[in-house]
Amino acid sequence: MSNEQLKIPQATAKRLPLYYRFLKNLYASGKQRVSSSELSEAVKVDSATIRRDFSYFGALGKKGYGYNVQYLLTFFRKTLDQDELTYVSLIGVGNLGTAFLHYNFSKNNNTKITVAFDVDETKIGTEIGGVPVRNLDDLEMELPDDVTVAILTVPAHVAQPITDRLVAKGIKGILNFTPARINVPDTVRIHHIDLAVELQSLVYFLKHYPTE
Ligand code: ATP
Repeated sequence: MSNEQLKIPQATAKRLPLYYRFLKNLYASGKQRVSSSELSEAVKVDSATIRRDFSYFGALGKKGYGYNVQYLLTFFRKTLDQDELTYVSLIGVGNLGTAFLHYNFSKNNNTKITVAFDVDETKIGTEIGGVPVRNLDDLEMELPDDVTVAILTVPAHVAQPITDRLVAKGIKGILNFTPARINVPDTVRIHHIDLAVELQSLVYFLKHYPTE
């Protein structure tokens, strides 16, 4: 990790990928500057927080001009890419899980799925997208110590017991794609992504806040 990044507070660092993705799209659409209020609207973070976050990046927005998109992008790319590679496991090689195994996360990110687990005999022992699929019964034995993050794409009713085993094994972060609300100790970070809810919310926004 660079010294530069060590100075960024955790809460700010967490918002970095969010800013990065939005700015990449802005840049691709040809925009060269962006105001904190525009950013605020897009990423749903209040503009005072954005201004404070960006001051850590050395980006000082000019009144009436905003921020230079290219400068920010360069900073984010440098900071995010310099981070060491994080090894990830995937639990549940169904339709969604299989898609993630084929998706090359490491192309643009600093994460890599190195092992997957399932209970289905027809999947165990195979390799999908270059990732070996192991028996979930052997999780404690087969999950390498350098894997710190798990993606959960299992049926909702088994999400909690599997999470408990992952936590006992030392997993630090879980990306939960099941609709189950899972409990973890304070030492573990969990992010919930319910695709059905996201889609519903998009439809709601389209209906109630139509774009121009
Ligand atoms: P598929 O099309 O392969 O049946 P799916 O995406 O439609 O999968 P799910 O039924 O949610 O949907 O299952 C996701 C994956 O989780 C499947 O590969 C299934 O074998 C696996 N799975 C089911 N129970 C468990 C479990 N207890 N532990 C780990 N994986 C499990």
